[in-house]
Amino acid sequence: MSEKKLNIIQVAVPTPLRRKFDYLLSDVINPDHVLPGMRVLVPFGRTKKIAIVLGKTSETEIDIKKLRTISKILDKKPILPEDIIKLLNWVASYYHHPIGEVFQSALPVHYRKKESASEQGVTLWSLTDIAWQADWSQLKRAVRQRSILEQLKNTPEGLTKQQLASEQEGQWQAALKVLCEKNWVSSRTKEPRQKRNEGHTDSQIEMIKNQGLFLNHEQQSAVESLRQNKTVYFASLIDGITGSGKTEVYLSFIEEQLKNARQVLVLVPEIGLTPQLINRFEHRFSVKIQSLHSALNNTQRMKIWQQTANGEIRILIGTRSAVFTPMPELGAIIIDEEHDLSFKQQDGIRYSAKDIALVRAKNADIPIILGSATPSMESLYLCQRGKMAHLKLRQRAGNAKPPEVHLIDVRGQYLQHGMSRTLIDLIKQHLARENQVLLFQNRRGYSPVLLCNKCGWISHCHRCDAKLTYHRQRNHLRCHHCQIEQPLPMQCPECGHADLSQLGMGTERVEKVVREIFPEIDVVRIDRDTTQRKGALQSMLELARDGKQQILIGTQMLAKGHHFPNVTLVAILDIDQGLYSIDFRAPERLAQLIVQVSGRAGREEKKGQVALQTSHPEDEMLNTLLNQGYSGFADKALAERKELLLPPYAYQALIRAEANKIEKYQTFLEYCFQVLTQVKQLIETTDADADSDIQFLGPIPAPMEKKAGKFRGQLLIQTCQRKHLHQSLNSLIQTVEANKAAQRVRWSIDIDPQEIY
Ligand SMILES: [Zn+2]
Ligand SMILES: [Zn+2]
Repeated sequence: MSEKKLNIIQVAVPTPLRRKFDYLLSDVINPDHVLPGMRVLVPFGRTKKIAIVLGKTSETEIDIKKLRTISKILDKKPILPEDIIKLLNWVASYYHHPIGEVFQSALPVHYRKKESASEQGVTLWSLTDIAWQADWSQLKRAVRQRSILEQLKNTPEGLTKQQLASEQEGQWQAALKVLCEKNWVSSRTKEPRQKRNEGHTDSQIEMIKNQGLFLNHEQQSAVESLRQNKTVYFASLIDGITGSGKTEVYLSFIEEQLKNARQVLVLVPEIGLTPQLINRFEHRFSVKIQSLHSALNNTQRMKIWQQTANGEIRILIGTRSAVFTPMPELGAIIIDEEHDLSFKQQDGIRYSAKDIALVRAKNADIPIILGSATPSMESLYLCQRGKMAHLKLRQRAGNAKPPEVHLIDVRGQYLQHGMSRTLIDLIKQHLARENQVLLFQNRRGYSPVLLCNKCGWISHCHRCDAKLTYHRQRNHLRCHHCQIEQPLPMQCPECGHADLSQLGMGTERVEKVVREIFPEIDVVRIDRDTTQRKGALQSMLELARDGKQQILIGTQMLAKGHHFPNVTLVAILDIDQGLYSIDFRAPERLAQLIVQVSGRAGREEKKGQVALQTSHPEDEMLNTLLNQGYSGFADKALAERKELLLPPYAYQALIRAEANKIEKYQTFLEYCFQVLTQVKQLIETTDADADSDIQFLGPIPAPMEKKAGKFRGQLLIQTCQRKHLHQSLNSLIQTVEANKAAQRVRWSIDIDPQEIY
């Protein structure tokens, strides 16, 4: 072995293994040209994989002779900047997730799959000299080739594939290939616009299209507080009731950032929310604004990603995965509707985009703003501890008045398919005034249960611990957990009895009942079943906003941020499920739903009413919410969590396991439990202030033990010291990964789980 210094490259390979991998660099490659954040092709097992360079080292724990050599460097320059590499390293260690998968999931699909994806810029096709000099009449019968030539003739600088496609039809791509082969047409790549220089001087008039609205006193002082910390890490919570003008505060703050030549990242929970928000942003600013969300195709995503990474896009609005987008001039992050559950990914890497955004802001030393009418307990707790500024907006902008809330006690009332007389009368009153009514039912389909009146048979899913929902329109039974579908039985499969009852109310049934009671009224149902077609949600929302429909029926989908100026009555048909759930977060979710839903009623000059049907009108939490508002509710809920030592006063991690037999997941979780118990003892003997605060709940079956034919169990770890949580999990992972026998189940770790029951 020579004394020559080794060039060992550390990479992240997309595999479920929780480690980095070392590779050698061949002598023909200058090691100075290999930088962190570049993609490389590496041999892995019997295949080759695209990996990301993490760094260089001259030492390795692996036997040098066993090290393999990088096959190919795929990028000329890093596609991930240093700050994102640092962030992803943090994600891998905080969520205890394999680093290769973390890096992989942060990249657009083209970067994951295509070796040549780094070719930035656009490809343009144009005519060659040969074509200009050729006699085109020889192509008389090659109609498509002729047509392409004609199109290119008019644009000597060249056309993109999309531009060509807009005028060509049929097999034109094959014709283009032929033209390239005979050298009549050539393609070249136009370099993307260069990153803007630091401190460039765009005229401010150019950036601002329209001035902002008049800000009231509260909004002004919120903007003032944000302005004081506009260039350093500073977290603020804008706790603003519906209609208090949070967005206007964001816009004023964004304006400051744009004037400073900064980019802004705005995270939103739903794609459904982005068009409205984008419109407002575009009305105000003339900089380049784009939204990044799951409905885009891979090419569109890639383009937006690259344009954001090179600084062209100044405001990026996106759902949770947008938090990983490189932004060289990032000046601030805004998280709208911060309480929303969709910021937490519920499979794969179970990350919280909100927590990652906080870390990203801290690393970059820039401000971050969280906004909500119903802040999460976690954020309110940060405010209590002085880690986040609490900016309250309590005034409704303009003339809008808060809605009146009625509890409808359904005990002893005759319910006409889930609707009380009181509610039906209320609906009539609002319709008589030519207003709109919004009815919420958080269940899709027609009826959630089918029951045999003779033998008691119930429509269970054979693959899940769940009931099959009857969908009337498509006349079948469907499981909402594994998506299996079955025809509706004509008679009981057990006893042959023909009288099967449809129990419970789904939105489809609410629609049918409402149409029967109000035959002359327009009714529209908005749920996942009616909005599957692309653009369907958008057009339904527009119809609803224009006041063309008078009764709107929907699931929680409708509760989020949509603005219906003519709705004056909002009703939740059944709130009891949220009142008596074993999930400690259920009251928080219910309170958020009630407040968000109430926000849909009576904006602008029309005063609204909210009606909640319940069999428990005396419930304490509910009454606190109605009498003292969300902040009164939140104080009480936080006090209760503190008393019971639940998050945010404690930290949790959930170990989930899944197998084809119950015994398998049980054995695995028992094994985890034993390992963790030993770690707990070790921590308690070595750490004086550990105070035996590590607790376990389980192993127990998951709330739905059987799902899609698999059996699932879980083990919850809870502690008041975060370091103990991570210490325990690190030891557990090491032990489990060293034990092949333990790995015969699918298992995962969920840090800060949002749904544990
Ligand atoms: Zn039966
Ligand atoms: Zn199922």
